[in-house]
Amino acid sequence: MMKIGILTSGGDAPGMNAAIRAIVRTALYHDCQVFGIKRGFGGLLNGEIVPMNSRAVSDILQRGGTILQSARCPEFNTPEGRQKAKEQLVELGLKGLIVIGGDGTFRGAQVINEMGFQTVGIPATIDNDIGCTDFSIGFDTTVNTVLDAMNKIRDTAFSHDRVYVVEVMGKKSGFIAVSAGLTGGAEAILVPEVSFDLDEICSQLKRSAAVGKAHSIILVAEGLNGDPKEVEKSSGFVVGDYIRKHTGCDTRITVLGHIQRGGTPSFFDRRLGTLMGNKAVELILDGATEKMVGFTNNQIQISDINKAIKTKKTIDFSELELAHVMAGL
Ligand code: ATP
Repeated sequence: MMKIGILTSGGDAPGMNAAIRAIVRTALYHDCQVFGIKRGFGGLLNGEIVPMNSRAVSDILQRGGTILQSARCPEFNTPEGRQKAKEQLVELGLKGLIVIGGDGTFRGAQVINEMGFQTVGIPATIDNDIGCTDFSIGFDTTVNTVLDAMNKIRDTAFSHDRVYVVEVMGKKSGFIAVSAGLTGGAEAILVPEVSFDLDEICSQLKRSAAVGKAHSIILVAEGLNGDPKEVEKSSGFVVGDYIRKHTGCDTRITVLGHIQRGGTPSFFDRRLGTLMGNKAVELILDGATEKMVGFTNNQIQISDINKAIKTKKTIDFSELELAHVMAGL
């Protein structure tokens, strides 16, 4: 009986559970045995591995996060850590490992592949910054969460004639900001990929207030002024403080933070997780390795993990331009 392992690693993303469920049920359908590895590569090293039956994935489709939990594991980057991982895989007799996560997780999968095991990757990151796929699991739900927050902020912004600077996630990329900004009607969108002129934005806000529209939402990507984990002042505060000082507008700053990661997955992310999980098992059964299951032009597309890691995915600059036109300023 073929044995397949699953792990989720890196940042969690809504829809990961749909993928886990699809992997388990597809594998069982094909008479394979499935093992869930807890807490990413860390759980692999430490032997936190549990057999999964159909009931193990009951009632998880609607849950955000990942039932297998996730962690970042620097030890896996050491020769000792890798040796421990290999021993676990050999002892279990696993044939293939399906990893669900971002590009770091895929690099981990490459290491496992070099050890002689089949690997397939499923892209799951709210940042949507993985190459060779239009969408990663979690992105759609996160954009919907941001839209919900923008709707609420818009109500109070209008009532009090305020400017709101709203900071969203995305690390060094602006996918979340562009998609939510375009569809949520942001008056300006600031992303790391495009240079901007804060003085021009201030002039725009003053012009807008002069003709009777004093409320605005400026959507700011967290990675605007470098790696969000390393900066002293987050981009929302840098931009918000500047606008307050240079316009005199009543300016408030809202950092949406981790609410963007949680919540029940959208239709789109449940479907993505289900289709990708199913395909990942089929690839393992076909003997494939080092593959990523992507979703491009509204259908599943397979690419090499290596290519997915190396391909730089860029935001849609025309959507950013369109958002500017739609702002009507
Ligand atoms: P996210 O986009 O949410 O950050 P990610 O998968 O890119 O997801 P990382 O923290 O970069 O998240 O990677 C997750 C884990 O993958 C790491 O903790 C580590 O265990 C493993 N990993 C990352 N990079 C490598 C690498 N170069 N070689 C081997 N393993 C790696």
